[in-house]
Amino acid sequence: MMEKSFVMMKPDTIQRRLMGKVLSRFEEKGLQIVAVKMMHISPGLAQEHYGEHCERPFFNDLVEYITSSAVLAMVIQGDDCISMIRKMVGATNPKEADLGTIRGDYALDTGRNIIHASDSPQSAEREIALFFQDSEICDYSMPDSDLIYEE
Ligand code: GDP
Ligand code: MG
Repeated sequence: MMEKSFVMMKPDTIQRRLMGKVLSRFEEKGLQIVAVKMMHISPGLAQEHYGEHCERPFFNDLVEYITSSAVLAMVIQGDDCISMIRKMVGATNPKEADLGTIRGDYALDTGRNIIHASDSPQSAEREIALFFQDSEICDYSMPDSDLIYEE
């Protein structure tokens, strides 16, 4: 099923100049980037985005990290892409993330794990709506889609 996932490169990805490398992985996989926005997240938006973690001991550090500098918010589209992007991103703790995953290859610390990706269709819908207006999500065809998809 065609899905959209919310993916966000965290401040460390941008400051470490890894944006292009990370974005390339999604493009090379055949996924379609349908929205991109560089922005500073407000504390309020950070608290809402990570609301499920509000009682956790790391919550304040997480909000501080994610609001510390610019992030790159994105919507990525593809067949069953939500769970696949999670696999590409790797485990939350980069020390446990397999090599070949984004966190496994580019990060070392849970508190600096460089990227966020939606964990379910429900989170994807909620997170996309938090960060993007419908009009900011671009509908365009990929001329090579029959090379990526059988039908
Ligand atoms: P994710 O879905 O893999 O990003 O992981 P979670 O939803 O469990 O946690 C959200 C984010 O909170 C993670 O990506 C980390 O940036 C941060 N985080 C989670 N656990 C910890 C922790 O134990 N310590 C710190 N400092 N940050 C954490
Ligand atoms: Mg999560």
